[in-house]
Amino acid sequence: MFIAFEGIDGCGKSTQLDLFYDYLVKSGFECIKVREPGGTILGEKVRRILLDKEMRINSRSELLLFLASRAQLIEEIIKPSLEKGYYVLADRFADSSIAYQGAGRNLGEVVVEKLNAFATDNIFPDIVFYIDIPVKEALRRIESKSKDRIEREGENYLRVVREAYLSMANKRENFYILDGTKSIEEIHNEIVNLYKSFKPS
Ligand code: C5P
Repeated sequence: MFIAFEGIDGCGKSTQLDLFYDYLVKSGFECIKVREPGGTILGEKVRRILLDKEMRINSRSELLLFLASRAQLIEEIIKPSLEKGYYVLADRFADSSIAYQGAGRNLGEVVVEKLNAFATDNIFPDIVFYIDIPVKEALRRIESKSKDRIEREGENYLRVVREAYLSMANKRENFYILDGTKSIEEIHNEIVNLYKSFKPS
């Protein structure tokens, strides 16, 4: 099974992914974690480029770099792991590009959907856990970390990104919204319950 964790910066998705990973491992499942951008040697190099504020990357280049990282991750790690019957937990996946590049950078969500399908060879998560937090809370949480890109984009950018995520929930059955302002434990329990009640279509 393929499960992605999504959300704006500071939402706590990586913490929840780690907790869910531990839960699955304790339940006896073979499991791997991947992160985006990154997860492969090529992906980690792309990540460094993307996070480098000196690069002045334009929006289309940015999207293509994310897609290159994703295409490599799919072929090198995700496909073989799913074939072996492993759980794959992804810290961000295709929906990040729809929200950040499609909406945030205004490249168009439909265009990004098509490019995602190409990059992923039409492999998408069975479940997406989207951890939702208000933009002001996100900014407060990431204040201490050096998130140069977000400092540059500011509040409005994150607002558009969040709206795009929220609108995905209306269109897709396997896209669950979790309230990221609840305690870590509460969110984790909700994720476990949603996972247990999930019926693949
Ligand atoms: O997941 P993480 O927060 O580590 O992501 C690294 C950075 O890349 C974040 O600042 C995030 O906003 C940004 N990002 C992006 N577009 C994506 C995925 C991540 O701008 N498609």
